[in-house]
Amino acid sequence: MSTYQRLPIAIARGEGNYLYDTEGNAYLDLFTGLAVNVLGHSHPAITRALMQQGSSFLHISNIFLNPPAIQLARRLVEQTIPGKVFFTNSGAEASEAAIKLIHKWTIRAGGGRAGVAVLKNSFHGRTLGALRLTRQRHVYQDFPSPDIPIYELAANDREQLRQLLATERPAALLVEPVLGSGGIVPLAEEYLREAEEICRKEGILLCLDEIQTGMGRTGRLFAYQHAGIVPDLILFAKGVGGGLPLGGIIAGERLMNLFAPGDHGSTFAPSPLSAALGNAVLDVILQPAFQEHVRRTAAHLQQSLQQLLQEEPAACREIRGKGLMAGIVLNLSADAVRELQQGLLAEGILVDVTQKTIIRLLPPLTITQAEIDRFVETFRRLLAGQSGKKGL
Ligand SMILES: *Cc1c(COP(=O)(O)O)cnc(C)c1O
Repeated sequence: MSTYQRLPIAIARGEGNYLYDTEGNAYLDLFTGLAVNVLGHSHPAITRALMQQGSSFLHISNIFLNPPAIQLARRLVEQTIPGKVFFTNSGAEASEAAIKLIHKWTIRAGGGRAGVAVLKNSFHGRTLGALRLTRQRHVYQDFPSPDIPIYELAANDREQLRQLLATERPAALLVEPVLGSGGIVPLAEEYLREAEEICRKEGILLCLDEIQTGMGRTGRLFAYQHAGIVPDLILFAKGVGGGLPLGGIIAGERLMNLFAPGDHGSTFAPSPLSAALGNAVLDVILQPAFQEHVRRTAAHLQQSLQQLLQEEPAACREIRGKGLMAGIVLNLSADAVRELQQGLLAEGILVDVTQKTIIRLLPPLTITQAEIDRFVETFRRLLAGQSGKKGL
């Protein structure tokens, strides 16, 4: 069905930070299937796990113990908060699990609280429940969905946060530490710390959607860890399955024992194969040398983009980002931005566009400084061509 506006290439294979189309052209992949392929393509650790688990068993259901998934759950908990994990096949299903868990908490312990406070322009998924939490009008407008009270807050507005949580009675606050499809908007660490303080004081559940920001993308395993806060609930997906579908929630001590047998489930999740790949991803990204590489290349990316902004103030409005997650906000029409995206494609560089005029960069964490430089140089040249044409 026509649910996506596609770019005109067909992919034949991927290797490292590059994809190759059916005609043999190479593309530097700064999109990674939407923050999924954190180790690029055909990474040896992923291929090894795929072969090992793939020749063992692929699916068993939840009626038996699933060792790769148990190992992954244990490692995710060790790296985050004391708690328990529920696995899903996707990000939207992680949001659904979160909604059900928050709802059960509301009934059992909510003390008259109900509903979820979320951020304007948030994205938490496209299924009908998750869609209630997604505050981008073009995404939800044609799909009215279940009636959970939803409160909308502007990102980083601490006064509004204080006001809302003092006057309304939401059960939970759910935020992306960096709004992803909403246009790469990082939440300030002070904002997150104040949110934590208010939630603790008022007994509100602090929930973080780390589906796009997680798995090392911002230089820590999860982005909230920069702020030193302790959430009640963490949503994960995208990169966690090493390229295969896998998502889930990590529920802290207040929530972890609420679900009883029959409350929630999934036939497929957690796929043992996805979980084995997840363990392989963790093996790589938890190495201190790898994290150091991410911090160094991330600093290089953000600095290079800031410099681009200074050199091209007419076309570039703002650079936003954290770690290896960046948004170049352009002062151009949606058509001109799409043209730039196609221009980059013709130069062998794959990028995403979000909110019509923002170039979104979600490179593999294995990206090199030289590859970042190649993108910035190419983009600067194309931008100069655009400005010439539009008489900027
Ligand atoms: C992609 C995304 C989702 C939805 O994940 P799907 O796997 O596409 O359902 C939810 N929240 C955030 C922050 C995302 O980036």
